[in-house]
Amino acid sequence: MPTIFSHVAVPLATSLGLGKIVSRRLLAFSAFCAVLPDFDTIGFKLGISYASQWGHRGFTHSITFAVAVALLAICFSRPLKSRAWVVFLLPFVAVVSHPLLDMLTSGGLGVALYWPYSNERLFFEVRPIAVSPIRIANFFTERGWRVIKSELLWVWLPSVILLFTLRGMRK
Ligand SMILES: [Zn+2]
Repeated sequence: MPTIFSHVAVPLATSLGLGKIVSRRLLAFSAFCAVLPDFDTIGFKLGISYASQWGHRGFTHSITFAVAVALLAICFSRPLKSRAWVVFLLPFVAVVSHPLLDMLTSGGLGVALYWPYSNERLFFEVRPIAVSPIRIANFFTERGWRVIKSELLWVWLPSVILLFTLRGMRK
């Protein structure tokens, strides 16, 4: 995966771009949604294999999962203090952006984007994002620096462009 911070960049940029129609609670919830798919790493502890549809980068990394989370979120429009369509859109974008970013990474297995129709593990043709080291200490190495540089270029820069595009569209 890209680092947790970079997964959060997408809902953060989308929220800031959309402006006041996104409540703080919805922003916080969407940031959580962006890292939610990787809770599937629990599967490793439970003995589920990486390649299984229930394993890491399996069903939680699919479009279907993103739609399900977003539909569920609509039920909480009131506590999330935003209109239903925004409560659908933002968590959907947050969850679905996660596997799409994973598909740009240079390591591991691909993601089961089209689950349950297919368990094929997919990557993009081009994979410029260096896979992030698991341990924090490893960030202060040359490899860590390479990860940070690739994420600034391939995640943060497009996110900033997205933010200003959305702002421009609002005017
Ligand atoms: Zn992931």
